[in-house]
Amino acid sequence: MSFDSLGLSAEILRAVSDKGYTTPTPIQLQAIPLILEGRDLMGGAQTGTGKTAGFTLPLLQKLMDTAKPHKGRRPLRCLILTPTRELAAQVHESVQTYGRNLPLKSMVVFGGVSINPQKMKLIKGVDILVATPGRLLDHVSQRSADLSNIDILVLDEADRMLDMGFIHDIKKVLALLPKEKQTLLFSATFSNDIKKLANNLLNNPALIEVAQINTTAERIKQVVHHVDKGRKRELLSFLIGSNDWKQVLVFTRTKHGANRLAEQLGKDGIRSAAIHGNKSQGARTRALADFKSGKVRVLVATDIAARGIDIDQLPHVVNFELPNVAEDYVHRIGRTGRAGNEGEAMSLVCVDELKLLKDIERLTKNEIPKIAIEGYEVDPSIKPEPIQNGRGGRQQQPRRRSGGNNAGRKNSSARKSNGNKQSSDRSSGNKSESPWGKATGNKSRRNNSQNRSQSGNR
Ligand code: AMP
Repeated sequence: MSFDSLGLSAEILRAVSDKGYTTPTPIQLQAIPLILEGRDLMGGAQTGTGKTAGFTLPLLQKLMDTAKPHKGRRPLRCLILTPTRELAAQVHESVQTYGRNLPLKSMVVFGGVSINPQKMKLIKGVDILVATPGRLLDHVSQRSADLSNIDILVLDEADRMLDMGFIHDIKKVLALLPKEKQTLLFSATFSNDIKKLANNLLNNPALIEVAQINTTAERIKQVVHHVDKGRKRELLSFLIGSNDWKQVLVFTRTKHGANRLAEQLGKDGIRSAAIHGNKSQGARTRALADFKSGKVRVLVATDIAARGIDIDQLPHVVNFELPNVAEDYVHRIGRTGRAGNEGEAMSLVCVDELKLLKDIERLTKNEIPKIAIEGYEVDPSIKPEPIQNGRGGRQQQPRRRSGGNNAGRKNSSARKSNGNKQSSDRSSGNKSESPWGKATGNKSRRNNSQNRSQSGNR
């Protein structure tokens, strides 16, 4: 199957083939004809499936087909909303790439940068606007954006927009749009809130799902390393150094944690940058560019900042800390294994996070292989503690286990130096007393002396 038979114009097909695509991905095959027919769409797609082209190609075609002569500035006819600035910038890049042979004008607006240059450009008139919700509303209130002529609305990563508390902004935007329009909603996961939003918003939508929702991309090799919280950074440096990983996206739960980890990795001789919501837009853009170009080896990110980041052939994603919400795991590891490439997703899981791991395995219906690294075995005497989610964040309570009683065990402060003695098999030996259960009973991959000699980059 090629792109030729999907009803797209020669100009669009040329842009697609210049980009190097020869075959439409499954979501493109399904979405493009439906969107061209004018249907509303609820699209469930695994990350990295090509959904951006899946909606952008047909919407460009529709805008061309329905263009009307206009007096004065061209009306804004298509609005694409995304949850983050990075994703907005990326989607806009796709709009520009696929629309390069068309006379359509497009623009991206997001917060964190000065609004005035955006206003100046916007009031000259664009056909397509890619925006984050907050900044879009700023433009509306300052009269630089007029939403009364929108024919096509796209809500990309709608689940995340709701998670990030954008529902009020989205409702405000929706109230400003014409009733008659085509709406396309994409989401990797479908919570009840999303379904509710979709029911209110979409008109007899076509439903497309290219893979089972809430499962993780098959091309991604997933692995869990059980390790004590205090040794995660050490293990991460070791893994990066000993495997000679060149490009690793690492997730932490908090902004502070991201900063601290990037700094510590830097001290270990591993060039790293942090990207999170407290960084200026300039710093975020620079960190991402440096990471993409290979100048920086590790990008430490919080969930919000990493949303939708598309990096060609990103080989490694590491969950330094598991996310509180299991769906976020699917999004995080979806940063690798994109567009047919192989990827590896590794999670460093301490005793506090065992419940989160269970939640993830339940959601993805997949038991993730656990691999112990010799020298980094867990200390079974360490008790689970509530998870800290940064200033003002929720605390995650550890799961209570009936009969779980670590009283009387030594609280080993010597765990750093005697990793070998506390073998993973032994640590899992007493199933009824340890929250680890069987979790650490896998074969070690390396011995401790190797650990020491290979971790010279620390
Ligand atoms: P997306 O899911 O939209 O973020 O796309 C993921 C990646 O797939 C991007 O790097 C796209 O450039 C790439 N891509 C999209 N469509 C195709 C296609 N038909 N063939 C090959 N790569 C594609």
